[in-house]
Amino acid sequence: MIYKTQVAIIGAGPAGLLLSRMLFNAGIESIILENRNEAYLRQRLRAGVQEEGTVAAFVEAGVGDKLIKEGMEHHGIRFHFAGEQHHIDVKGLTGGKVVTVYGQRNITCDMIDWAHKDNIKIIYEAKAQRLEGLTTDAPIVHFSLNGSLHELHCEYVAGCDGYHGISRPSIPKQLRREYVHEFEHSWYGILAEAPPSFEEVVYAHHPNGFALQSMRSPELSRMYIQCPNGTDPEDWEEEALWDELDLRLGFKNNRGKIVDKSVASMRSFVCDNMQHGKLFIAGDAAHIVPPTGAKGMNLAVSDIKVLAKGLINHYTEKDDTVLSAYSKICLSRIWKVERFSWWVTTSFHTLENQSEFDTKMQEATLGYLCSSDIGAASFAENYVGLPIYWDAK
Ligand SMILES: Cc1cc2nc3c(=O)[nH]c(=O)nc-3n(C[C@H](O)[C@H](O)[C@H](O)COP(=O)(O)OP(=O)(O)OC[C@H]3O[C@@H](n4cnc5c(N)ncnc54)[C@H](O)[C@@H]3O)c2cc1C
Repeated sequence: MIYKTQVAIIGAGPAGLLLSRMLFNAGIESIILENRNEAYLRQRLRAGVQEEGTVAAFVEAGVGDKLIKEGMEHHGIRFHFAGEQHHIDVKGLTGGKVVTVYGQRNITCDMIDWAHKDNIKIIYEAKAQRLEGLTTDAPIVHFSLNGSLHELHCEYVAGCDGYHGISRPSIPKQLRREYVHEFEHSWYGILAEAPPSFEEVVYAHHPNGFALQSMRSPELSRMYIQCPNGTDPEDWEEEALWDELDLRLGFKNNRGKIVDKSVASMRSFVCDNMQHGKLFIAGDAAHIVPPTGAKGMNLAVSDIKVLAKGLINHYTEKDDTVLSAYSKICLSRIWKVERFSWWVTTSFHTLENQSEFDTKMQEATLGYLCSSDIGAASFAENYVGLPIYWDAK
């Protein structure tokens, strides 16, 4: 079967769903092809901390009602290291900016609900297989659905298909450069039916490794500990896991039924050049950050703000200035966010062969941050989200 649309979007993660909504608001038609089924998308957990600009993007797109009602505004963050807890007044240091805790799962469900309500077409269980004619005016996305092959004819392709998708490899190898850093540790994450012990997120530096207390709602805690790569979630007895969280975080956590366990590996990755002809890649398709600093979904949203503006300017004003500079504009922000995520990760995590000197350097880094308004303000500025550098600085 042949389908037709203006913008073919591959992937119904936060990037693809938000783009379809922003285009819909501007009267531009799109079709989303999504490999998974709807139920799977609605239960996928992942990120939770949203930057000020991410919240604004969802609200401006008209999908932020529940986010504003149910999201938990955080005015600060706590660090625990060398046996003491410190508070960073993020709101005070950034002239009133905050982050909002509202799960990626929730905003995904909200955007799917809105898409269905407005008849934005999402074809579930449709796997994009091959892209054709990307440097022509009539690209085609070949996809499989229910065991047969179909074509989506379009004017532009938005590759929002995550790290393992087909969009990035569709940019010829000689036109892209990939930068990768693999970390030697992972995060063991749990979701527990327990009220968070602190209202704010707590990051802990401990000789046994990093730990994090976060939340998804006033009743649900999201906790992480650093673990070796290759850890099986079943390797840990639940009691031992809670004890280790208490030890590393430096306080007794509220305990409850663990309803989800997972291990996530950590990687920094950037694909330099995010466009080729009529293809534009966004979000995890183009870059990955380690979860420390909570930037993954936020970066996807900032790419989409640029891509949506570029496409809207093209269709409504015949102006391709932003679209032709898409990659450059996005990458000038992406590298700064990559730096922040890498720096927070290396400041808090303990390496297998870490020397006592390395540990002292980490403690001094964190000590400086907590004792200097300028150091703390730099952290806070990054945590609430950097601006988009439209002039690509
Ligand atoms: C286990 C895990 C935990 C995470 N935790 C955090 C966190 O705590 N904080 C944080 O900020 N970030 C976190 N992230 C990162 C964050 O979730 C991502 O950065 C975010 O989902 C990126 O959105 P996206 O839309 O670019 O990609 P995705 O959400 O990955 O969406 C891509 C979509 O494309 C679909 N797709 C792939 N290939 C095809 C194809 N060929 N055809 C059709 N569809 C396709 C996929 O099924 C998927 O639905 C986590 C990620 C993972 C994997």
